[in-house]
Amino acid sequence: MKIQAAVAWKAGAPLAIEELDLDEPRDDEILVRVEAVGVCHTDESARLGKLPVVYPIVLGHEGAGVVERAGQDVTSVKPGDRVLFTPDYCGRCRYCRLGYTPYCEQVIAVTFTGTRPDGSPRAHHDGNPVRASFFGQSSFATRALVTERNVVPVPADAPLSYLAGLTCGVQTGAGAILNAMPAGPGRSVAVVGTGAVGLSAVMAAVAQGADEVVAIDRVPHRLALAASLGATQAIDTSGRELADVTAEVVKVTGGGADTILDTTGNPQVIEAAVDALATHGTASVITSSGAPVTIAPGALLLRGRSLRGVMGGHVNPTVFIPRLLDLHRRGKFPFDRLVRNYPFTEVNRAIADSLSGATIKPVLVL
Ligand SMILES: [Zn+2]
Ligand SMILES: [Zn+2]
Repeated sequence: MKIQAAVAWKAGAPLAIEELDLDEPRDDEILVRVEAVGVCHTDESARLGKLPVVYPIVLGHEGAGVVERAGQDVTSVKPGDRVLFTPDYCGRCRYCRLGYTPYCEQVIAVTFTGTRPDGSPRAHHDGNPVRASFFGQSSFATRALVTERNVVPVPADAPLSYLAGLTCGVQTGAGAILNAMPAGPGRSVAVVGTGAVGLSAVMAAVAQGADEVVAIDRVPHRLALAASLGATQAIDTSGRELADVTAEVVKVTGGGADTILDTTGNPQVIEAAVDALATHGTASVITSSGAPVTIAPGALLLRGRSLRGVMGGHVNPTVFIPRLLDLHRRGKFPFDRLVRNYPFTEVNRAIADSLSGATIKPVLVL
């Protein structure tokens, strides 16, 4: 069938909206009419060629829409159902079977090659293959093919125009706090960087009932937003030495934060985060970009501290997204306040606004 899709023809080129031929759904596939799709920094990294993608490829990995058709093996959704797409995974490896799908052993192939597991491309342009399984979805498009592995059903009246923004960066920030790190009553949490990931972590820490939630950034309007979302302290780092910021975190948390989430990937910031931890505290990283981090073993050992990685929200999104939706319904996770909508045709502007920080979470509507 004919679809409109934003194609990355080669590394660095702006996305171009083209007419493509999308395959008919196979027995295990679901055809979804895309209504909204979030924009994430990973789309930009893929567009620039910083990730192992193969061009031409349709990007987009936070899609949401209405099921139009389902292959005969599909049992969990039917035409008319509304769904959010999640990052795909293999479903068979050890980590998928344990429920830790963000750590899937096949993650590179499933996420970036842009083909089905058998190597077929899902879409064509003038008879030539176009990769259309980025994150198992390629949802910068009017229609997309997905599988039961990477859809989460939502209620018929679910507002997809902002819910589409829930499934990657928001889930990453919230999942780090809710699934992987101690953050409840009696704890202090610090979040470094208040973009979509960081602000989601702030909301999650507030929802968990952390005593102190410290937001750290150099952009005043983001810090103001963090405070309005429940952060108890907002630390502006602009023009300050890292050691000075570390000392302030230690002071406002009464001796160091129990939990610190770094969203910057900056090695000096990660080193400072470890220094700002309480005894038995844990610092986490959520991005693989950035230069090596240097930490003296004693900085960890003598205080019983940990530094760890937390990927993609840490658990299977089909389990975790409903939990976030429930928190949102109860007013405890107002992530819609981060979202700004753009028409699909303005995909390049939405990406640029995300990078510049003008918009925290762009969501395209189709
Ligand atoms: Zn797997
Ligand atoms: Zn993403």
